[in-house]
Amino acid sequence: MADKLIRATAADGGIRAVGVITTRLTEEARVRHKLSYVATAALGRTMSAGLLMASSMKRPGSRVNVRVRGDGPLGGILVDAGLDGTVRGYVGNPSVELPPNAKGKLDVGGAVGSGYLYVVRDIGYGYPYSSTVELVSGEIGDDVAHYLVNSEQTPSALVVGVFVGAEGVTAAGGILIQVLPKAARDEALVTTLESRVSALSGFTPLMQAGKTLTEIFHDLLGDMDLKIFPESQMLRFHCGCSFDRVLGALKMLGAAELQDMILKDDGAEATCDFCGNVYQANGDNLAQLIVDLQRETSVSE
Ligand SMILES: [Zn+2]
Repeated sequence: MADKLIRATAADGGIRAVGVITTRLTEEARVRHKLSYVATAALGRTMSAGLLMASSMKRPGSRVNVRVRGDGPLGGILVDAGLDGTVRGYVGNPSVELPPNAKGKLDVGGAVGSGYLYVVRDIGYGYPYSSTVELVSGEIGDDVAHYLVNSEQTPSALVVGVFVGAEGVTAAGGILIQVLPKAARDEALVTTLESRVSALSGFTPLMQAGKTLTEIFHDLLGDMDLKIFPESQMLRFHCGCSFDRVLGALKMLGAAELQDMILKDDGAEATCDFCGNVYQANGDNLAQLIVDLQRETSVSE
């Protein structure tokens, strides 16, 4: 099944529901970053959560950055997700592996540790909106839901999951259900939703049982005037890095540093943190940057 996002409403527009399938893009991240099992689960859950959060933004080009900073051996997670369905991300220590937790699941909470969740929403102009909450469990789903409830004051239930085995990622995705302001005072509604979502045994067991996002929405909200939007949105792992951007970053180092790189290595190698792409600049590329810098200096004088 291709990676995709679908949207729905229920309770006369008082409930907003979004679901994502992210199996392929999580597998791509696993391969690109050579992620361990637990690192795959941690990054995959965070990428699904980022895409779910970005889906509520309105202005084209809007993006959300989710940064998880915990004291565990994973060394942090950074995800950048867009309303356009693109996502990228990485973890501090991709090779960390831990024994399963008490439930027999990948110990994402143990890998993340305790710390903070930072969210930045950027709508493409003005100051980005940013906020921070303390991590609840480090399991990502709970932490992002806690953020949405406490920092954005939207009653929210969020479930994200990744199943990774010897053959790679075979199931990944999540759902976000939010009670909008027009219905947020309806405490019975909020309680009903919370109990239904918390009764789910996770997201990947539903996928593995062959459930589609549409069927999951019907199970959760089918008796609440559910309306599923007919068009789905494609999702993909995508990074905007390029050789030109790498050259731009190298240029910032200044002529003396560049000259040093030419003498020592006759070039420079740069790896993009977000996607793992490796860029090689040779001595001629660096020499050209020095020429450009000198030209800019003489123009400004
Ligand atoms: Zn990149």
